[in-house]
Amino acid sequence: MEKCKHTVIFLMILFVIFPNYAQALKVVIDAGHGGKDPGALGVNGLKEKDVNLDISFKVRNILEERGHEVILTRENDTYISLQDRVKFTNQQNADLFVSIHANAHHDPSIKGSLVIYYNNQYPDKDYPASKAMSVLTPYSKTLAQSVLNGLVTEAETKNLGLMSKAVYVARMGSIPSILVETAFLSNEQDAERLVDESERQKMAIGIANGLESFEPITFWDALDHWAITSIIRLQDNDLIIGYNNSYEPNRSLTRAEFLAMMDRIFYFTSDKVSENEQETNEPLDNLSDEQPTPISEEETESTQENNVSDRENSNHEQNNSNTDLNETNEKESTSDNTNEFDSNKQTKVETKDFKDLSADHWAFKIIQEAVNNGYILGYPDETIRPNEPISRAEVSVIFNRIWNENEMTVTEETFLYEDVSEEKWYAESVYLLKELSLLNGITETTFGPERNMTRAELAVMVDRFLY
Ligand SMILES: [Zn+2]
Repeated sequence: MEKCKHTVIFLMILFVIFPNYAQALKVVIDAGHGGKDPGALGVNGLKEKDVNLDISFKVRNILEERGHEVILTRENDTYISLQDRVKFTNQQNADLFVSIHANAHHDPSIKGSLVIYYNNQYPDKDYPASKAMSVLTPYSKTLAQSVLNGLVTEAETKNLGLMSKAVYVARMGSIPSILVETAFLSNEQDAERLVDESERQKMAIGIANGLESFEPITFWDALDHWAITSIIRLQDNDLIIGYNNSYEPNRSLTRAEFLAMMDRIFYFTSDKVSENEQETNEPLDNLSDEQPTPISEEETESTQENNVSDRENSNHEQNNSNTDLNETNEKESTSDNTNEFDSNKQTKVETKDFKDLSADHWAFKIIQEAVNNGYILGYPDETIRPNEPISRAEVSVIFNRIWNENEMTVTEETFLYEDVSEEKWYAESVYLLKELSLLNGITETTFGPERNMTRAELAVMVDRFLY
């Protein structure tokens, strides 16, 4: 997995150079308790409702200074029911909700910060969640974790971790929601922090930092999908970006999309950047141009999922790897017939011409490089079919070609899919990916080699590979 580590480090460096330009968020901040409901009482006489409101103001000020939009459920010492807080929040069309509280415990030695979110894996039948919230768990949890990290880093309170709990404001809303317990009013040291202006400010900065790092939901169509956790993780790492608020997890992955993702992981186009005169001369800009093309920004062209002959041809194309190479050589010897790429200043990149790949295809450069590196070969009819679905067998083989890290011999022990016999051109790759738990079968005993790979399956595979 050495290459994998390098890739991860490389991506991390990229993200330091090109941090995600923080998107402006719309945040609802809910200062817990208020009016007739004082909340917990501090050992130093501090009332929870007051400290909650003050920290809420501070968080608001920080976020507003940073360009975010903030709405408070209360701005003074008034009582608002939990139902009204959630109802109000649901009307705001906001990105996220945070309720700010201070904690109390009968054991005065207990201190620290924790963040509560609703976890749909532990439903409480007495306190059912709203329909929306029951699929928002991965987002609420991500939000909870980043706010907790921000808080304990900035305020240096003890980290008590996340708590999944069906509290009303965290389970009844329609957007990612959390409840922050800043510190314990029942603990002497924590209560001292909570009464201290500068300590409150640190807590507010930490909470704001955590909130700010949250990426608003874009993939509304994947919320209750089995692959959502992987999809979110890849999105958080800028490997995929939403398009029209959707990810289309069940759609067949196209050949171009697959190669674009592989390029984001293995970066096989990167060393060609400086040669390409179409790019600007600034090295940083070049890199910036090389930043991941969002997998879904690839124009709206609808994919043709009805081409059955793709499979026939792909078998033809990849009967065994030797034939593939021969075919490549043949093609290369005839490829200087046309100068199609001259006009595009692409002459420095050796390439083959494909009837169905024009220079303005969003993945043109990626496909070119994939061909030049021998990752894909094209079909005998001189097409590359960028917008057509890619099969699970093809994904396995191409992934291994690009990764170029592992070899495997199929033995009786490893042989387990009834639809992938040892002599198949994809058998080694399929069993290798299975062995590494990167791509499993569709059942225990079948792999479905000719089935189209879905975008969800790719997300899970890449997630397992990288994280
Ligand atoms: Zn409270």
